[in-house]
Amino acid sequence: MSNGPDPRTRAGAAVKAADRAHVFHSWSAQGLIDPLAVAGAEGSYFWDYDGNRYLDFSSQLVNTNIGHQHPKVVAAVQEQAGRLCTIAPGFAVDVRSEAARLIAERTPGDLDKIFFTNGGAEAVENAVRMARLHTGRPKVLSAYRSYHGATAAAIHLTGDPRRWPSDSGTAGVVHFWAPFLYRSPFHARTEEEECERALRHLEDTIGFEGPQTIAAVLLETVPGTAGIMVPPAGYLAGVRELCDRYGIVFVLDEVMAGFGRTGRWFAADHFGVVPDLLTFAKGVNSGYVPLGGVAISAEIAATFETRPYPGGLTYSGHPLACASAVATINAMAEEGIVENAARIGEEVLRPGLAELAARHPSVGEVRGTGVFWALELVKDRTTREPLVPYNASGADAAPMAGFAAACRRGGLWPFVNMNRTHVVPPCTITEAEAKEGLAVLDTALSAADAHTV
Ligand code: PMP
Repeated sequence: MSNGPDPRTRAGAAVKAADRAHVFHSWSAQGLIDPLAVAGAEGSYFWDYDGNRYLDFSSQLVNTNIGHQHPKVVAAVQEQAGRLCTIAPGFAVDVRSEAARLIAERTPGDLDKIFFTNGGAEAVENAVRMARLHTGRPKVLSAYRSYHGATAAAIHLTGDPRRWPSDSGTAGVVHFWAPFLYRSPFHARTEEEECERALRHLEDTIGFEGPQTIAAVLLETVPGTAGIMVPPAGYLAGVRELCDRYGIVFVLDEVMAGFGRTGRWFAADHFGVVPDLLTFAKGVNSGYVPLGGVAISAEIAATFETRPYPGGLTYSGHPLACASAVATINAMAEEGIVENAARIGEEVLRPGLAELAARHPSVGEVRGTGVFWALELVKDRTTREPLVPYNASGADAAPMAGFAAACRRGGLWPFVNMNRTHVVPPCTITEAEAKEGLAVLDTALSAADAHTV
């Protein structure tokens, strides 16, 4: 005899109803969304109240690099909460200095001072402020295919369409084209051509804007949400040279690419490039408590040695956030998690995704490194017409929505943006889990294939 819906289903429905009543969601038409009610998470999985389990191929917002509920990180936050929950940024406190030391030890070159924020956008805001004060110049150059956050300066610096509704056109930001061979803005045919033309374009942009007006060039080391475009060899070193030549601060945004995502501690390590400022967040503590920051070169730090830095946040270097960062970084080092991301990337994802691309006509290109991959889905491999139009919504976006729904039916939570799906599982993912995810992608790509010509 039935007693009505399963109590778990009822609990899930109650969570959804409460959410609907009072939570205002990011990036959404409030009446058109139906958020999944999440009951719990562990490692590479999370689950709903009906017992459906999802392999997290999105790492949430590409931040749970160490997976969900890592016991060492949970214990560190609990221990810190028992000792000292909060203290203002003006005090010296053990857990904050330890987090700063562990981060400074891993960032490239002489980026040895750490300014803490609550997340990535605030890190970008402060990096830009530092660059402007250091140079006394107003403008910042950033790439069209980029995302830097949703606060005032960060959204203006963002190049992709998420900027449009917030762009006042007066933020001192100039956008330029960074290299992307598959859809080359320079009509290049080889990586070498793309690299050379992209550098010439950037130098022309600097020249025509007036180098003496440019405080910073800001780039994601490997652009993330805009498409995981690994830059050609030599590009970032070339940008470094241009910045040195014109006295411009070079800022690398490693909010998404940092802390193991690319199979190295920082994506800059792949290219041997040292920026003047490096922004981080997400993977620094896998998002267990909000945290981000800026790693600052000795030269820029010296600017503020006797002159006050005119910026701050009540929660800069929050003890719970710093405790989770210390535990995350230590666990990543002790457990070889960065090495795991590199190995899974090369031994499982690179060949596995290439094999899917060979069989599915909807896959136009596979690109990435570590646990940071994009599949560019197309209607037509020859013309490279995207599977859905640029910035599509509603019915126009249906082929990608269908692909995502097929992934979820198969027990995989995908990351989908425009005509791309990103394969961005935790750095801790096992070989068996990665293969399980590839099998679900195989089925879901067949749904996408139905929309090809
Ligand atoms: N920079 C990059 C490269 C990012 O990917 C993001 C977030 N996706 C941000 C900045 C903004 O970070 P947050 O959402 O923590 O403000």
